Amino acid sequence: MSIDQQISEYYDKLLKRNAGEPEFHQAVSEVLDSLKVVLGKDPHYADDGLVERLCEPERQLIFRVPWIDDKGDIQVNRGFRVQFNSALGPYKGGLRFHPSVNLGIIKFLGFEQIFKNSLTGLPIGGGKGGSDFDPKGRSDREIMRFCQSFMTELQRHIGEYRDVPAGDIGVGGREIGYLFGQYRRLSNQHESGVLTGKGLTWGGSLVRTEATGYGLVYLTAEMMRTHKESFGGAKVIVSGSGNVALYAAEKAQQLGATVVAMSDSSGYITTPNGVDVDALKDIKEVRRERISAYVEEVGNGAQYHAGGNIWEVEADVALPCATQNELDGESAKLLVANGIRYVAEGANMPCTPEAVHYFQANGTAFAPGKAANAGGVATSALEMQQNATRDSWSFEYTDGRLHQIMSNIFKNVERTARDYGCEGDYVAGANIAGFKKVADAMLAQGVI
Ligand code: GLU
Repeated sequence: MSIDQQISEYYDKLLKRNAGEPEFHQAVSEVLDSLKVVLGKDPHYADDGLVERLCEPERQLIFRVPWIDDKGDIQVNRGFRVQFNSALGPYKGGLRFHPSVNLGIIKFLGFEQIFKNSLTGLPIGGGKGGSDFDPKGRSDREIMRFCQSFMTELQRHIGEYRDVPAGDIGVGGREIGYLFGQYRRLSNQHESGVLTGKGLTWGGSLVRTEATGYGLVYLTAEMMRTHKESFGGAKVIVSGSGNVALYAAEKAQQLGATVVAMSDSSGYITTPNGVDVDALKDIKEVRRERISAYVEEVGNGAQYHAGGNIWEVEADVALPCATQNELDGESAKLLVANGIRYVAEGANMPCTPEAVHYFQANGTAFAPGKAANAGGVATSALEMQQNATRDSWSFEYTDGRLHQIMSNIFKNVERTARDYGCEGDYVAGANIAGFKKVADAMLAQGVI
């Protein structure tokens, strides 16, 4: 049987066994596509059912999360943790609280996390979790009660050497605090290594808050350097206005770029004279208001476009930092027509396959999320190192480590693409480099 036939057989089987999970199918299909070239060159990676085992989570947990809202009514949500692969280290990956969360979404995120975590070069496996809980409009006390109920069940499945959750969409410092508090109470131990993204006075790491956004810009700068360009003077679109987007915008502007547009789920703002990141942080993170407030409060040429498509703005660099499939084929065409030269994914799988192919076919350098947004989880692994040695590092030292990790990821991805005859295809480079490390560990550890 040819490699192509073998892969399409795996994929057909996967579609049948995981019906109704389109995001998971999308994530697997993209990786399998890149594996064709690996299996052609190194056929032993098809041994021992390796590819089938890699696509099947080691463990999938689904649990009830009952809690009492401010009116005294009972609410019931669904909690998930998918422990996908621990060949390289304890399961590691965030928790997402968003009404769109279902098993398929968590499986896609967990699957991506395996390769992302492998690319960091640090000893972490892949996992992901979350809930269909919608934090929007909920009071602090409701958030706390939800987190306590969620952790009451999750606590039996996690631990420093087993599974180390962190944040993702809807889970930031406040939620990690409530989750950690409940874990500490139930376990009667101050086990700081059980969660990352903690507060700075109780085991958290400097730079963890900034890490995904900063790391995205460090990697993008490295990619631009190979084309003899830099952020200096570049116009940048950053979609979203959550943790990743805010710190990506901050770092891009520190490097001399102008962030010309940002968004939230209600619409986007254009900021031809750059974004005042501190003002936007106050609106989005402290007051939790809509992005439209920025225009009234800051002005400086900013305009609000209710419900508009941010990808119609003209720029040199696009950093999609909101959510999966936010940038489709049509938007990719708009960006290319407007002269976009670099796209790097700050969110997980924000570009549809059609968009990715369009960028690659039209000379836009494209960095996939597995590589480009790995800075968050990499700094989580640095937080774990500090917890294990009961140490806390300076901002400069930690930021230096992050910078080094992102440069190494890009070099590894670039070199791997070249070694496998697909120079400049950073999707293939990331998938292949991430895969090989996990695959070697799985083959060495036997059929489990
Ligand atoms: N949720 C982030 C990601 O998608 C970070 C996970 C972590 O720090 O464990 O990689």
